[in-house]
Amino acid sequence: MPSQYSKHLKMNSSEFRKFAHELVDWMASYLENVESYPVKSNVKPGEIFSKLPDTPPEKPESFENFFKDFINIIMPGITHWQSPNFFAFFPANTSPPSILAEMIISTLGVQCMIWETSPAATELEQKMMNWLRDMIGLPENFEGVIQDTASTSTLAAILTAREKTTGFRSNDEGLFNSEKLRIYCSEQAHSSVDKAVKIAGLGIKNLVKIGTRDDYSLDPEKLRIQIKEDLKNKLIPCCVVATLGTTGVTAIDPLKEIGEICSEYRLWLHVDAALAGTALILPEYRWMIDGKEYIDSFVFNPHKWMFTNFDCSAFFVKDASTLIRTFEILPEYLKTRTRGKVNDYRDWGVPLGRRFRALKLWCVIRMYGVEGLREMVRNHISIARRLAEMIKNEPDFELLAPVTLNTVCFRYKPSGANENELNVLNEKLNHTLNDSGKMYLTHTKINGKYTLRMVTAQTNVTMKHVMNSWEFILETARSMKA
Ligand SMILES: *Cc1c(COP(=O)(O)O)cnc(C)c1O
Repeated sequence: MPSQYSKHLKMNSSEFRKFAHELVDWMASYLENVESYPVKSNVKPGEIFSKLPDTPPEKPESFENFFKDFINIIMPGITHWQSPNFFAFFPANTSPPSILAEMIISTLGVQCMIWETSPAATELEQKMMNWLRDMIGLPENFEGVIQDTASTSTLAAILTAREKTTGFRSNDEGLFNSEKLRIYCSEQAHSSVDKAVKIAGLGIKNLVKIGTRDDYSLDPEKLRIQIKEDLKNKLIPCCVVATLGTTGVTAIDPLKEIGEICSEYRLWLHVDAALAGTALILPEYRWMIDGKEYIDSFVFNPHKWMFTNFDCSAFFVKDASTLIRTFEILPEYLKTRTRGKVNDYRDWGVPLGRRFRALKLWCVIRMYGVEGLREMVRNHISIARRLAEMIKNEPDFELLAPVTLNTVCFRYKPSGANENELNVLNEKLNHTLNDSGKMYLTHTKINGKYTLRMVTAQTNVTMKHVMNSWEFILETARSMKA
């Protein structure tokens, strides 16, 4: 017997069409007016939670009701990452082509775990990874796969390095009572390296953080000394994670020198270029991968700076067979007639189920063209340089790191204040700026100095936004009492 709700339980296509059209209007207006929202949400902890009912509705509700609550309850608790006044962290950019493709992806709702579960998804992914590889100048013998995040990609790299170093014994027998494998990265490397080393069962004590040079890039001489020392102590050097574009100050580790050491001692070289990888589409930034012949695996996030909405992390390996051997599983229900002839991406990383992310990349790359992408990225870099110039021209402000890409590190430094007072002052400045809702920026610590970081890489940022924000920073800083 049909229930009294049966007509609600399946939205008919005319209703779906109506809501979807209305929603697209809302989406376009949101993007048009995104600047009018406070950039950083200023709700208090628990505020949104307390406005939500404790129990789910027993009876079906309308989309209108759902949407009304989305606007009234949820939107005030949203931080607007797509605002051109968002200068915090690193960006998580979206763009109209990416959103359009994402609508198709959620409509198809396909799983891209093996070729058979949607051949087009696998083959488009394969082609997109080749396009990206060529766009950023990696050698042709690299193959790629889309992961959810750089953290997952780095985990996949470290697990593969572990298996290669132990001759696949760690997958078979486990790691207890075996020799200690050592992983190396700079003091400035991302915390995802720490996380991966812990999850991989290597022990966080075996992650060695190597000191940096004046520009905060990994010091290859210190790396060499550490490896020799470890060998003397019967530890087993396994993998170096080099960073292009560290999260604090976008330092670029010297790949060639690091690569030579990796090749001499036969270590896996993984490159974390989560943000900076996008800049490799510019010929003038290819110097960052001098030494690319030494790379074993490489990750960058189109979901950061390449206008492809989260999630989309591009992971490349030189020897896909070692990666696949690390992750391969073959239960009866996944045995197919095409196995071995096609890429079954479930064997290229941790998850089985995978979203159809390649479609977003295809739409973004086609609708901007590589030239269009280059232009947008170059514009962001030139905005950062001009901001740095403006900062240099103010005697009571100080630049704290070289500006390589899109990240400008600085602090307010009125005369007479000591280091401690400067830290307190800049922290207060940071909070005051963010609480205003006019802009959002985050901080880092450089040699104990509280440092403001302004990242000029949001899809729609222009020089005008940065000028206005800079004026606001000057005004706010100078009106503050120490
Ligand atoms: C952002 C970032 C990461 C982490 O990226 P996810 O995709 O969020 O995991 C890793 N490394 C660097 C250098 C980053 O900037």
